[in-house]
Amino acid sequence: MSNAFQIDWDNLGCQIIPTKTMYISKKIGTQAWSEGEFKAFGKIELSPAAQVLNYGQGIFEGLKAQRTKSGSVVLFRHEDNARRFLQSALSMSMPPFPEKKFLSVIEEIVKENINYVPPYKKGVLYIRPCMWGTDEILNVTPANEYTFLTYTTPVGYYLGKGITPIKLDICDTHHRAAPKGMGSTKTIGNYPGAMRFAEQARTNGYKGCLYLDAIENRYIEEAEAANFFCVKDNVLYTPALGTIMPGITRDSVIQITKNILNIPVVEKSISIDEALSADECFCTGTLASIVSVGLLNYKNRQVIFNNFEVGDITKKIMEILIGIQLCEIENQFSWIHTLE
Ligand SMILES: *Cc1c(COP(=O)(O)O)cnc(C)c1O
Repeated sequence: MSNAFQIDWDNLGCQIIPTKTMYISKKIGTQAWSEGEFKAFGKIELSPAAQVLNYGQGIFEGLKAQRTKSGSVVLFRHEDNARRFLQSALSMSMPPFPEKKFLSVIEEIVKENINYVPPYKKGVLYIRPCMWGTDEILNVTPANEYTFLTYTTPVGYYLGKGITPIKLDICDTHHRAAPKGMGSTKTIGNYPGAMRFAEQARTNGYKGCLYLDAIENRYIEEAEAANFFCVKDNVLYTPALGTIMPGITRDSVIQITKNILNIPVVEKSISIDEALSADECFCTGTLASIVSVGLLNYKNRQVIFNNFEVGDITKKIMEILIGIQLCEIENQFSWIHTLE
């Protein structure tokens, strides 16, 4: 455990800073989930034959707690994370973790580690609930014992450092997901397969990759862990759900754009050509909220968007989303949960 009072809040990055406690609960066989406990943040013991280490029965979520200007601590749409976690468990033949219990663990862990929630606009306390099959198993079957663990770590505020657009490479040599596969499940196995392609792109100066659909290799799906949007002629486009992650930020952006900005939103397949001829592009995810894309590369064809500056519509959506998340904009949504 690090001492929260020694953290340099002005220079938070995205490395793991150990916090005070993590929460663990277990489920064995047909028994209910154990009451669970908060323990000092630290290492856990696993058998080398643990299901998750060998056959990958593992799911996770990612959410954030933030401090508002008045100093209160707020969660953003955590009920949606609970729901998605249930869906992921179902997809991975894992037992459901009760939604109510999930929500109270999230609240409690933030309270336990409240000193690690960064000051206003310095960053967020990232919350990572996980579930793994943890008993020893040789056959490729679901585990008989599961561990639910949630930890937290303070992470730097992407936006405090300015909003420089990123460059992305469109990857046509790897598909992260296929129809009827696991693309919409937040499961651990979905990420490592893409890493060598993303690493290659980073070597070439890009921030990461956008992956294409597995059937025609022609439609943009999403980045490793972020959804994709583009603006053309004052309409916002984003790939339809199916093989992509149903991002909670993605849904928030769609609702803000339609209902607050009154800009039409179309969820459909977006071809490479459509993306390359867009006026603005951006990606969304919990940690960064919205990241403007200033350049896309496809097979040595580079396209710059909006002179490599954040586009007007992107900027408006960004301001509203962040304003809502920090309780600074009145709105019709009930997305904020304030901790007592
Ligand atoms: C988590 C994730 C996202 C973003 O989802 P949010 O709910 O907005 O954080 C997008 N794509 C993938 C593949 C992800 O794992």
